[in-house]
Amino acid sequence: PAAPDVEALQHADVARLLPRPAAESDKYRRGVVGVVAGSARYPGAAVMAVAGALYGGAGAVRYAGPAADAVIARFPETLVTAGPPSAAGRVQSWVVGPGLGDDPQGRQALADVLASDVPVLADADALRLLSPEALYDRRAETVLTPHAGEAAALLGLSREEVESARLASARALASRYGVTALLKGSTTLVAPPAGGPVRVNPTGTGWLATAGSGDVLSGLAGALLAAGLRGVDAASVAAYLHGLSARALGAAPLTAMEVAEGLRGVWRDVS
Ligand code: AMP
Ligand code: MG
Repeated sequence: PAAPDVEALQHADVARLLPRPAAESDKYRRGVVGVVAGSARYPGAAVMAVAGALYGGAGAVRYAGPAADAVIARFPETLVTAGPPSAAGRVQSWVVGPGLGDDPQGRQALADVLASDVPVLADADALRLLSPEALYDRRAETVLTPHAGEAAALLGLSREEVESARLASARALASRYGVTALLKGSTTLVAPPAGGPVRVNPTGTGWLATAGSGDVLSGLAGALLAAGLRGVDAASVAAYLHGLSARALGAAPLTAMEVAEGLRGVWRDVS
C-alpha cells in the first residue's frame, strides 16, 4: 500500500519516545537546554519558555538574554549568562524566539544560535528575524513552530491561504527550509524535513489559545530535543503532552504556566 499522507500520533508512540533518566544518568546526559527568549518588553515569554523546558524534563536550562532577573525570580534553578549564547557553555539544544522583540541583540543572538552545531527550535520573533541561508547551512536539526500567521509570512502567503491549506503549508515549510515544521492551531501538524507522513496531534483543546502557551510548547520541545529525540519526534510529542496537560485542567480557562506545571502529571500518566 502507498505510504499514508498523515498519521495520528498514538499514545503508545509517545510512551515509547518519552525520555526517562537511566539509573546512572546525570543532568548533562538528561539534556541541557539553552533558551534565548524574552526582552525588556516581554520578559514573561522567557519565563514561560524556561518553564516548558524545566517541566519538560531538561537536566538544566541555560538562559541567555535580557530577562534574566524575571527568569531567576521564578526559576532559581536556571543558569543565566550575560554574554552571547555561544559563550553560555555547552547545551544539547537551543530554543530561540519567544518574546525576543526587535532588539538588535536578539537578531545577533539568533544568528549565534543558528551557527551552532546543536538542534535549534525557532519560534515567534525568531521566525520573523531568521534568514533562510542560515537554515540551509545548518548541520544539526532545526524545528520551526509557527502559528498560521507566522507560517504565512515564511511562505509569502496570506493567513487565510495557510488556514485553508494547512497540510500543504506544513509540508511546504518543511521542504522549502529543510526543517521540521510544526504548524500550530486547532489541529497541530508536524511535517518532517525530508518528506514522509505529516503527524496530526489529537490532543489539542481551544483552551490552549491563551497568551504564553506557545512559549511553553517551545521550551518543552526544546527539552525533548536536548534529550536526544529527533526533531519530528520532539515536536510531535511536545504537542501531544502540551494538549494533554491543558485537557487535564478541565473545561475551564487556564494559564500557560499551569499548562507547564501540569506536565508533571501528564508525564506520570503516559509513562
Ligand atoms: P501561540 O500561537 O504561539 O500563542 O501558541 C498557541 C498554542 O495554542 C499552540 O500550541 C496552538 O496549537 C494552541 N492552540 C491555539 N488555538 C487552538 C485551538 N483552537 N485548539 C487547540 N489548540 C489551539
Ligand atoms: Mg507564539
